[in-house]
Amino acid sequence: MSDLTYKVIVGLEIHVQLKTNTKIFCGCELAFGAEPNTHVCPVCIGMPGVMPVMNKKAYEYSVLAALALNCNIPAFTKWDRKSYYYPDLPKNYQISQYDLPMSENGFIDIPIEGGETKRIRIIRAHLEEDAGKNTHTLGNFSAIDLNRTGTPLLEIVTEPDLSSGTEVRALAIELQRIVRYIGVSHADMQKGHMRFEPNVNLHITKDGKVYETPISEIKNLNSFRALERSVNYEVRRQLDDFMESGRTMEMGNKKTFGWDDVNERTVLQREKEEAHDYRYFPEPDLVPIEIDDDWLTEIRSRLCELPLEKQKRFVDEYKLSDYDAGVITAEKSTADLFDDAVKAGGTPKRICNLLTQVGGKLANEAGCSIAELGLDAESLAKLAKMVDSSEISATASMTIFEEMVKTQKDPEAIAKEKNLIQSSDSGEIEAMVDEVIAANQKAVDEVTAGGKKSKKAMGFLLGQVMQKSKGQANPKIISEILNEKFPQD
Ligand code: ZN
Ligand code: MN
Repeated sequence: MSDLTYKVIVGLEIHVQLKTNTKIFCGCELAFGAEPNTHVCPVCIGMPGVMPVMNKKAYEYSVLAALALNCNIPAFTKWDRKSYYYPDLPKNYQISQYDLPMSENGFIDIPIEGGETKRIRIIRAHLEEDAGKNTHTLGNFSAIDLNRTGTPLLEIVTEPDLSSGTEVRALAIELQRIVRYIGVSHADMQKGHMRFEPNVNLHITKDGKVYETPISEIKNLNSFRALERSVNYEVRRQLDDFMESGRTMEMGNKKTFGWDDVNERTVLQREKEEAHDYRYFPEPDLVPIEIDDDWLTEIRSRLCELPLEKQKRFVDEYKLSDYDAGVITAEKSTADLFDDAVKAGGTPKRICNLLTQVGGKLANEAGCSIAELGLDAESLAKLAKMVDSSEISATASMTIFEEMVKTQKDPEAIAKEKNLIQSSDSGEIEAMVDEVIAANQKAVDEVTAGGKKSKKAMGFLLGQVMQKSKGQANPKIISEILNEKFPQD
């Protein structure tokens, strides 16, 4: 076979549900999982003659997200009707944005291997309303739930700058962190708060010629796993298809696929519509939005340090590993707790270990975030300092942490109550060392003989003293005393 190389080209279309209290053009409450068709009104079910009114908060949330994605915010933006017929869209059009979106030309930096980042350009992000939901749980009948109609969605479209399933997944995770950090979406994948549609094709180089395979759009993915796997699957399928048929983009442009999660394969749905099929035209019932500098400045002031910046700062400033920094910045509340505890005097690595190890375990058990365990930064810093000054052992700090979560008591009080304070009384410790030496002549001989066995024997003596003190003696001091008694050269 001739030499063949290929490049994977992926662009993403993403819908993010904004966490406003009410829908985008009416006063109905956003309620996931409610009894079907109980959060609807004439506006959101599309009765003729009703008048939509824009939810200001939805627009502000979308601007905030667009700013976090480094987009330009035009001073003027308007609404358009996108016409299509589907049972979950009774009014036969979706209010969306076409030629003048509320934001454009941004980028998102995503973490890739080795602490590096890759910049993915964003073409535009616009605001629109969601449709309802068809359900198929009634035997031969399909049912429609319109509770979701009119949910504000931010649609984000990237340039095809992604070049693997892994990168696509990394972008999805980063975007989830960002919208959660700035508080515009719950971004709960299982509830469909973020839905992804990758456009995948290959640039295949064969015998010095470049061939482009037809683009596949995979619809409606709402898990990181399905997202990554469906892209990887399409890469293999398109490669096989090209080898078998030689099919390229000229022979049929774009097709829409679904993802079959059970059989882990894409399934052809339909040939893709073009924009002119949607008959976009300006929405006559809504006034355009004009944003002035003051309003934009006010919204910009709500931005916080974004997750990737925070992660990098924790590596640079606090010398955390990239892995630890990633774990600790997964949730903003936990990252802030960590940051505050370090500022309150705890050593970063110690605080990080306490939070990710014992904190992570307890949070998992309780089904909450680490920050929601309810510890305050000062107590956490205090606990970390107690380990660093050898007042307590690292093992004891784990026990104390658990007790702090349970009782909200002060770490020192718990340490005293549970007898976990290590003795640093060198007189008392020396007496125990002497007793141990007198009782273990063989180990003493090995220590004084020097060489290989000496180190091990020293460890044995230290262990004996620890045991004698019932784990209360400060091992650093025992070690100092032993070293004084048996100077090593
Ligand atoms: Zn409504
Ligand atoms: Mn859309």
